[in-house]
Parts: sequence; C-alpha cells; structure tokens
Amino acid sequence: MLPTKKRCPRCGRVLPAEAFNLVRGGRELAGWCRVCNHRYYLDRKEAGFVRKNPSGRKIAHGGYTDAVGRYIDLG
Ligand SMILES: [Zn+2]
Repeated sequence: MLPTKKRCPRCGRVLPAEAFNLVRGGRELAGWCRVCNHRYYLDRKEAGFVRKNPSGRKIAHGGYTDAVGRYIDLG
C-alpha cells in the first residue's frame, strides 16, 4: 500500500501522496516531490548537464537524464 503522506527529504515538507511521482510501476512514491524533481531538472538544464551530480548519488527519484540531456520521467 502506498502511504497517504510522505516527507520530501529535499524540501523537508510533508506532502500528500499526489505531490509525488509514482515509481516502480506505481507501487512506490518517488523519493522527492514533483516540485523538487522539477527544480532539480531545471538546475541540471541550466548547468548544461555537464556537471557531475555533486552528492554522488544516483538520480533515481522520479526520473533521470539520458546521455543527450533529455529528462526521462519514470513516474
Ligand atoms: Zn520536495
């Protein structure tokens, strides 16, 4: 069962499940809320997708950026 609420670790807000993308075929909520995912995408876009993710973590929350810089939304 999906939780009805979740705290986004990026912005720290507790948000309803609807504020998150679904991942793993809809069985799980994305790690970050849609707003954070979008903001992250925009940051990456501005940076020209050349910078390595400074945290070293995989981009696995709701989507990822492919080799030519397109954002692939898995949610
Ligand atoms: Zn967030």
